[in-house]
Amino acid sequence: MANVHDIRLVDLAKRYGDVHAVAGVSLDVDHGEFFTLLGPSGSGKTTTLRLIAGFELPDAGRVELGGQDVSHVPAYARDVNTVFQDYALFPHMTVADNVAYGLRIKGVGKAERRTRAGEALEMVRLPGVGARKPAQLSGGQRQRVALARAIVNRPRVLLLDEPLGALDAQLRLGMQVELKRIQSEVGITFVYVTHDQEEALTMSDRLAVFDAGRIVQVGAPAEVYERPATEFVAGFVGTSNVLDRGGRRFTVRPEKIRLLTGDASSDGLVSEHGRVIDVSYVGPLTRYVVALAGGGQLQVVQQNLETSSAQALEVQGREVRVAWREEHTSAIAVQPEEVGP
Ligand code: ADP
Ligand code: MG
Repeated sequence: MANVHDIRLVDLAKRYGDVHAVAGVSLDVDHGEFFTLLGPSGSGKTTTLRLIAGFELPDAGRVELGGQDVSHVPAYARDVNTVFQDYALFPHMTVADNVAYGLRIKGVGKAERRTRAGEALEMVRLPGVGARKPAQLSGGQRQRVALARAIVNRPRVLLLDEPLGALDAQLRLGMQVELKRIQSEVGITFVYVTHDQEEALTMSDRLAVFDAGRIVQVGAPAEVYERPATEFVAGFVGTSNVLDRGGRRFTVRPEKIRLLTGDASSDGLVSEHGRVIDVSYVGPLTRYVVALAGGGQLQVVQQNLETSSAQALEVQGREVRVAWREEHTSAIAVQPEEVGP
């Protein structure tokens, strides 16, 4: 049998008035992948998700699920569920009834509904709260209930639109790990939308970087981080650190750069002279900004392995050398000129 993708998007386009929300997106997502759509606000992530779900119909192009063209199949008939940031639980129903809602609509009997809702709540580590109302739960717990409701009928694909956006930083980190665990346990394909590059790098098997309604790069987290295809990707996924030297444009990541003072050796490294124009001590590491004698500036990140805060701050204003290994640079394409309307 030919390789059938869980999701295939072909030249998908959607316009609102004269806004090209999605401007020709093609993409394959494999079964069981944790696939992330990453991009800044307004880059077309939600619209792409809504096109996959069937909440919007494309102006052009095609949506395939499991090898079948569903471009004109209504949302309820697609084997897809969606989790939104705002949970959208029914406040008057118990947690168990919320979770079992989709099963009731499908005519599943009461006993089986109860069993499967209980299993789904266990899966999201919320056993024993079925009788409560959503208002009696914390934000993080409500998000888990929304997730349980979305996986209870085992869809082929789960779409998640910034599901952790409303949680505080601490809770988010915990839920990132939880979501990964749940996804690998249930074996459902996840398409996950976020504007948070760290979240995308942490969670994804692969990710697609969106810019202005288009995908500018697709790859595994390490590929996208280490080999950004464009200056936009270099800047959006990490810190850009772009230099032009000898007709070549390249990026080098802040943690790959050494900061050398005095006569420290830079044998075997590419090195340049510069001056430290900013130092931020952030506990486990220190960030330096170095203005280079040859033009441009670089962010440098160093672990505070042997360095105290006083030592870190001491280099402010100093002449230094920065050095890196040639293989840690990555050539990037010069961005194409914007094509006017
Ligand atoms: P993202 O999720 O990446 O923030 P969206 O897909 O929500 O981006 O939006 C992409 C573009 O389409 C934005 O310019 C947005 O304002 C516009 N847009 C999205 N939905 C609508 C709509 N229903 N009506 C008009 N414009 C919309
Ligand atoms: Mg969005």
